[in-house]
Amino acid sequence: MLAHLLVEPGKIAYQEVDTPEPGAGEVVVRVSAALTCGTDLKAFLRGHPKMPMPTLFGHEFSGDIAAAGANVRGFREGDAVMAVPTAPCKTCYYCRHHQENLCTIIMDTMVLGAYAEYVRLPAPIVETNMFRKDGGLAYTEAALLEPLSCVVHAIDKLAVRPDDRVLIIGAGAISLLHLLVLKSLGVEEVIILGRRQHRAQAAVDLGAAVLLAPDAASARAQVLEATDGLGADIVIECTGQLSVWEEAIHYVRRGGTVVLFGGCPSGTRVSFDTERLHYDQITLMSPFHFTPRDVRKAHRLLTERKIDGRPLISGTYTFPELDQVLTLLQQGHGIKYALVPQHA
Ligand SMILES: [Zn+2]
Ligand SMILES: [Zn+2]
Repeated sequence: MLAHLLVEPGKIAYQEVDTPEPGAGEVVVRVSAALTCGTDLKAFLRGHPKMPMPTLFGHEFSGDIAAAGANVRGFREGDAVMAVPTAPCKTCYYCRHHQENLCTIIMDTMVLGAYAEYVRLPAPIVETNMFRKDGGLAYTEAALLEPLSCVVHAIDKLAVRPDDRVLIIGAGAISLLHLLVLKSLGVEEVIILGRRQHRAQAAVDLGAAVLLAPDAASARAQVLEATDGLGADIVIECTGQLSVWEEAIHYVRRGGTVVLFGGCPSGTRVSFDTERLHYDQITLMSPFHFTPRDVRKAHRLLTERKIDGRPLISGTYTFPELDQVLTLLQQGHGIKYALVPQHA
């Protein structure tokens, strides 16, 4: 089959590799759509500690089962499916304490290789985190299951009320997924804090109030003005930038919660004013990954059309065009792009 390999930072190759075959309990999926993700772009630009190169890459996908191994129950060849690229072991300490997102092997067993004709899914994913794709749901939208599961995990921890005022910092795919999930919960007032108009347009189209601020002082003033001088009930940081993590506690009201969602480079240290945290009783959370329960919820949100992910997909390209797409993303164009087989 043809697959994209990440050869070294800044260099990909689209080349012939062995087509995977399913072992017991496994399936091989013919990829119908793969989506770009910020993680892919970061790995392409700088490398990734969990992705020694050369490596297959891409981890958001949907497709049809091309081959099913022995003992696969509930699925067969030809089924349209959607899946996330990880599954917990179910036996480690964290799995036994309902924190499967922290499972000791979950990241080490992540499936890479969505930018390829076929991808093999190990038995734990087939058993726990793979689902039938509803016929009416586009493959491109079904491929949102993984990022959406991360967002569902974060919002599930929050006990959001419909009358909460939620501020989301950043205007990329993860911010917009938060916006869509919050709207599905009936939250009416969602404000997106961004920096550039063209990045924020999708948020405007999705019905969020958008604040554009060139710097932290202007952002702080605008957020306070938009929230009657109180600050937002909930602030969700989706940029993964140190300065934004530190600034986020100034946008929340007393007693409010700050969700630090965007991962910073490892070794990053952060400092907060303890007076603000303690006397204003600010809760800080930094949710990671997702549990099987979150994936089931995300699957339901997509299947029941509680959220419409189409506005997040800025364009559709064929697999050989991945390098063009990575260039567009590097230049700051678009939210997410879909890659599809040439014959589609
Ligand atoms: Zn992703
Ligand atoms: Zn585990």
